Amino acid sequence: MTADRRIGVVAVQGNVSEHVTAVRRAANENVDVVEIRDAGIVPDCDALVLPGGESTTISHLLDTQGIDEEIRAHAAAGKPVLATCAGLIVASNDARDDRVETLDLIDAAVDRNAFGRQVDSFEAGLDVAGLDDPFHAVFIRAPVVDEVGPDVEVLATWEDRPVAVRDGPVVATAFHPELTDDDRLHRLALFDPLRAEA
Ligand code: GLN
Repeated sequence: MTADRRIGVVAVQGNVSEHVTAVRRAANENVDVVEIRDAGIVPDCDALVLPGGESTTISHLLDTQGIDEEIRAHAAAGKPVLATCAGLIVASNDARDDRVETLDLIDAAVDRNAFGRQVDSFEAGLDVAGLDDPFHAVFIRAPVVDEVGPDVEVLATWEDRPVAVRDGPVVATAFHPELTDDDRLHRLALFDPLRAEA
């Protein structure tokens, strides 16, 4: 992989700095990590992270800034995306909530706050397809995927419900891989595909 890869972290709202740190660590070499708050930057990015936060706010800001169409074009061109938590909700094609205008990157319907208000957050060791050892997953007001289309690969489940999925170039997790020191999911989603293509 060449050193001049540019990775964009969508930074309109949410867990941005943790992802910037995780991307730098996962890259294992020099990459340019840019925070995206305006239109015009996504087209120059080789891969994107769509962080967690508040999905209604993120989707609204992506729309008003005109970044939504650029992200759709990025994924349609087959370029990697890692979407986490609220990012999974925004990247889905049905958030079951009219306040979220989805990007339709993943053929999946999600249930926002699926674990309910009874369980605000929890941690679990998950087996993830493509990783040799369990991943320590931190769930915070997490969604789950309740329905997936035929081309969606379920990478991990929790209590029989999908919590990590892949649809073409897009990998999405209901949990927060940026909150641990384990950058295997950033590598799997962002850097393995870029290296494979180089
Ligand atoms: N429940 C939040 C939402 O619906 C997502 C939580 C998160 O990203 N930690 O947007």
